[in-house]
Amino acid sequence: MEVSRLQRKVIQLKEKEKALILAHNYQRPEIQEIADFVGDSLQLCFAAIRAEDAKYIVFCGVDFMAETASILNPDKPVVIPDVEAKCPMVAQLPAKKVVEAKKKYPDAEVMLYINTLAEAKAEADVICTSSNAFRIASKLDSTKVLFGPDRNLAWYTAKRCSNKEIIPIPENGYCIVHKLFQVEDILLLKKSHPDAEVLVHPECDPEVQQIADFIGSTEQMRRRCFESHSKKFIITTEIGLIDRLKRELPGKEYIPAFEGAICYNMKRHTLEKVYHALESKKTVVKVPEDIAKKARLAIERMMGLSKQ
Ligand code: SF4
Repeated sequence: MEVSRLQRKVIQLKEKEKALILAHNYQRPEIQEIADFVGDSLQLCFAAIRAEDAKYIVFCGVDFMAETASILNPDKPVVIPDVEAKCPMVAQLPAKKVVEAKKKYPDAEVMLYINTLAEAKAEADVICTSSNAFRIASKLDSTKVLFGPDRNLAWYTAKRCSNKEIIPIPENGYCIVHKLFQVEDILLLKKSHPDAEVLVHPECDPEVQQIADFIGSTEQMRRRCFESHSKKFIITTEIGLIDRLKRELPGKEYIPAFEGAICYNMKRHTLEKVYHALESKKTVVKVPEDIAKKARLAIERMMGLSKQ
């Protein structure tokens, strides 16, 4: 079926069912276009709790994001269009590794990246996203902070919180997509486009972060494009953000730092699957209440600290 026709069908069904569609910045453009809200992980948390009027949420993102929306909305079904949309990074830090690290560093506070499953979040003192990691770390009482699973975000946070000892757990957690960016490729692009600003996500390797003009989450990168006087940007994150930028700020140019930076896990959702999810409501994401209760405390603490 033609994309625009299917989009209309999705919108009609969504309105009839009183559903709210939330989509991450890395979703396919045709999904971003019909979503009620598109954003980064932190914004999606806030959007999920503002969903009072919706009967249920269709979450176009990966597993940990849909779980987080469900934890924040225990009475509202959260449906994921493709249950296999899983972030490989979360498997790098199962709950038992967090428990082991807590035993090894009893005087440390545990700040976990939102890219973790609920069982791991339940072991944390607080959660963070790539947009607020150093702000949250700086507000913790303890000098030692256990942080995982992304080692590069740990490095970025440690650079900005010199009074904290950030201990990465595991030692070498990473995102398979952001690992693809190479300094040489970006420098070559910069040579051909000397007037372009290099925007880098903090999940990238430290060498890549060091050549950035700006480092931030997808939402912070988007805002930078709006606020900067530059007309050209080299975008060093998953290419879905470029689709959004082209749609919302068409007067500027966006050059992917690497065309192959595609998160196939995010892209598992398609318009057809969104339609079926709305129709069947079968693929509901549920977190056992004992785990959800503990994880909710850590997520809500982050949300509170983010507003301060
Ligand atoms: S881009 Fe990386 S961190 Fe984000 S969902 Fe994909 S694999 Fe996970």
